[in-house]
Amino acid sequence: MTKPMKEGLSLLSSKRFPGRFGSGGYRHEAIVGVGGNLGDVVKRFDRVVDYLRRGGLVRVAETSVILKNPPFGYADQPDFFNATMRIETDLSPLKLLRYLLWVEKRFGRRRSFKNAPRTLDLDIIFYDRLRLRTWRLQLPHPHFHTRESVMIPLMFMKEENR
Ligand code: AMP
Repeated sequence: MTKPMKEGLSLLSSKRFPGRFGSGGYRHEAIVGVGGNLGDVVKRFDRVVDYLRRGGLVRVAETSVILKNPPFGYADQPDFFNATMRIETDLSPLKLLRYLLWVEKRFGRRRSFKNAPRTLDLDIIFYDRLRLRTWRLQLPHPHFHTRESVMIPLMFMKEENR
């Protein structure tokens, strides 16, 4: 299903987005941003959710709708797809980051240059209410509140909880 919004933005749903998968049993909650713009991104998002759920290190509690949006930064590349997930975990912030970077790699992420096309991008937007500013990890994720690619999926996820 595709629903057009303003200025080239549209909302999509898929097998796992949006979705609710139950919660409880872990000590921490995090919001993870999911993005990508190479290949069949929507199918990959679904596979990532299944992969995370099978892995047992995080519990995917909820996923948002998917936002299709034009690229920023380096403009000559395919449109981006973005969504958010609410996850629960016992991993520390750094361990969670390491795990997500590993999952990116597992799904074929290659780092070339800043804002380059990517198969999968996983960012920690929030980890509980933690504030952290280290070279390795910044929480909440910097600039998330100015990015429609995060704010729109997040807003729809919040609406669902009303
Ligand atoms: P990028 O894939 O371009 O979003 O950048 C990933 C790098 O950003 C990682 O290697 C992290 O060290 C760093 N980083 C800093 N804060 C965060 C965060 N909240 N979530 C994910 N990566 C972060």
